[in-house]
Amino acid sequence: MFNLSRYFSTLSFVLIVLAAGGLGLLYRELSLHQISELAESRNVAMAQVFENALRQPLERLISVSIGRDGGEMLRSGEVETLRENSQILMRDTAVIKVNIYNRLGLTVFSTDARQVGESRLENPGFRSAINGVVLSELVHRNTADTMEGSVSDVDLLSSYIPIYGEGHMIEGVFELYQDVSPFMAQSRRSLWWVMAGVLSVCAALYLMQYLVVRRAQRILKEQEGRIKSARDTLEIQVDARTAELKRANSQLEEEVGVRRQAESKLNYLAYHDPLTGLANRRCFIERLEESMQEAVRSEQRLAVLFIDLDQFKQVNDSLGHGVGDELLVAVASRLSEHVRLIDMLARLGGDEFICLMEGVRNEEDVALLAQEINAAFAAAFLLGEHELFLSASIGICLYPGDGDNVLELMRNADTAMYRAKGQGRGLFHFYTPEMTRDARERIRLENLLRGALDNDEISLHFQPQVDAADGRLVGAEALARWDSPRLGSVSPVRFIPLAEDSGMIIALGSWVLRESCRQIVQWQAAGFDLPQVSVNISVKQLERPGFVNDLAAIIAETGVTPACLKLEITESVVLAMADACALLERVRALGVTLALDDFGTGYSSLSYLKLLPVDQLKIDRSFIIGIGSNSGDEAIIETVMALARSLGFEVLAEGVETVGQAEFLSGHGCHQFQGFLYGKAVAADEFQATWQARP
Ligand code: C2E
Ligand code: CA
Ligand code: CA
Repeated sequence: MFNLSRYFSTLSFVLIVLAAGGLGLLYRELSLHQISELAESRNVAMAQVFENALRQPLERLISVSIGRDGGEMLRSGEVETLRENSQILMRDTAVIKVNIYNRLGLTVFSTDARQVGESRLENPGFRSAINGVVLSELVHRNTADTMEGSVSDVDLLSSYIPIYGEGHMIEGVFELYQDVSPFMAQSRRSLWWVMAGVLSVCAALYLMQYLVVRRAQRILKEQEGRIKSARDTLEIQVDARTAELKRANSQLEEEVGVRRQAESKLNYLAYHDPLTGLANRRCFIERLEESMQEAVRSEQRLAVLFIDLDQFKQVNDSLGHGVGDELLVAVASRLSEHVRLIDMLARLGGDEFICLMEGVRNEEDVALLAQEINAAFAAAFLLGEHELFLSASIGICLYPGDGDNVLELMRNADTAMYRAKGQGRGLFHFYTPEMTRDARERIRLENLLRGALDNDEISLHFQPQVDAADGRLVGAEALARWDSPRLGSVSPVRFIPLAEDSGMIIALGSWVLRESCRQIVQWQAAGFDLPQVSVNISVKQLERPGFVNDLAAIIAETGVTPACLKLEITESVVLAMADACALLERVRALGVTLALDDFGTGYSSLSYLKLLPVDQLKIDRSFIIGIGSNSGDEAIIETVMALARSLGFEVLAEGVETVGQAEFLSGHGCHQFQGFLYGKAVAADEFQATWQARP
């Protein structure tokens, strides 16, 4: 830092010394000037005294000498007298020497005799005086002669003074030497005092200023310290702020990262199925669109395969949604791991998957893929304690050919899948344009069926059931018939599934049940004693929470004897409903009998069968057909008969068309028969007419 006191002290010291020196010089000059003036005026006065006192000899001296060069100007006696008189005048004065020059500069008189005759024509003092101006000069002499003798170290003021004669004419020049040593000594002494005074004042001034400056310096230093500490604090604050900013920045970056993550998660969710992690519908649609464009460009074909699990609903219903979800995840991973030919696999929702195959050369390529998919289901899915066997139905369509746009392709693949499912489990089917026609037909049929009940187009036909031992009529199965004015007679095989899919089965089934009961009561009233009437009940009806109450209401409403009513249910009830047994127990509690329809085609385990509260097993027609030709079917029938016997079930064989079949069945202990051999299903009147008369 700038050292103020050092600079100040140096500078002011120099200035004070200079000022003191300058002042000293000035004072000296002034006092010399004063001394000179004073001494000069005294010299002038002295000269006047001389002139007055010694006028005559002087005039003579001056005039005599004029015009003559050198030589004796006065007689020596006169000169001596003059000298003596001069010395008298000079006594007790400071004048120690007098010279007189004539107008030519010649020394005509001097108190120092040795000087007489010397010329002073060129002397400036003389020349000034001769022109009327007194001129003085201070000189220092190491030795000087006085009347009392010689003195050493004297200061003299010599003055040249004009001598005026008649008519104020300058006739000569005096030169007076005055001893000014005492003045000079005085002057020197006072110079010292002045210098001492000036110096002490300056020193005091210097000291005071130095103190002020030192204080200022201290204040500055303090301020510097303060500034420094302020700067330090500022730096610390700046550092802290910088760190804070950095932190904020990293926090911001973190937030941005989190948001990015969230965005990518959202993006992921937008295109993926959260359960299985597969692509979702939207993702598949976008990919398929691109693939279609690429296929057109590269003149290649692609295939869309719609995959629907066959028994997923049962798993979901019986084992719960948790297991259902696990199963879907397992299926997804198995398909994506084991099926190499798939180019893209997506889950559309529920148990529906869809996949894309690119670079298809022919149908065989796709069939290979479909087989590969089916093969992937061959092994059981192990989910905790559950070992589940599953299959899938696959619908296939090709592009170009089976649709012009993405949605059409997907819809057609779906249609083909329905066809495959309709033909059994674990099958695949290629799309054909008829399927769309069929689908349209289905819709038309569905629309017509909607009005059928209200328009009395539905009726009931009854097919006899007879005792195997004596051919006695033991009952009849009520079978629905639809006589459409537009379509003619429509088979229940066509319209019952339609009614089930559309939900119309509830109203239809309820009508069949009520109509059957009404018929029983009517026949009884007419004296036609039919022990039982079997009514087919769809799973969809049983699934309805109010089924048992509705049944009880119909029984009460029609007044039918509950024992005369038999309900035919299928094994799918067991698979579809977790509490099937409890429900069936409630039905039986009403006094109604239960028969298990289409027995042998389902997949229910025997252990479950044992617990099922049914009274009768109806062996499916498909096994009866094989009697006499298919030993496998015969073996199944034998096993079923043995099983039924051991479990205490009554057995009815349906679809008995030949005597041979009847004999085989009764040989194995079958209790009842139903089939064309005994009669087709006919209208109630005809049924009554045919059977009332028989014994
Ligand atoms: P299902 O319950 O197995 O009914 C027996 C079917 O086999 C009847 O066909 C009957 O006519 C036929 N059938 C009986 N004996 C023979 C035979 O010896 N040979 C041949 N080839 N066929 C025989 P239908 O009446 O066409 O009924 C078909 C199916 O429609 C029924 O099969 C049943 O599942 C369903 N169905 C019919 N009416 C109803 C109904 O009112 N409600 C419900 N839920 N389903 C019904
Ligand atoms: Ca039936
Ligand atoms: Ca049946």
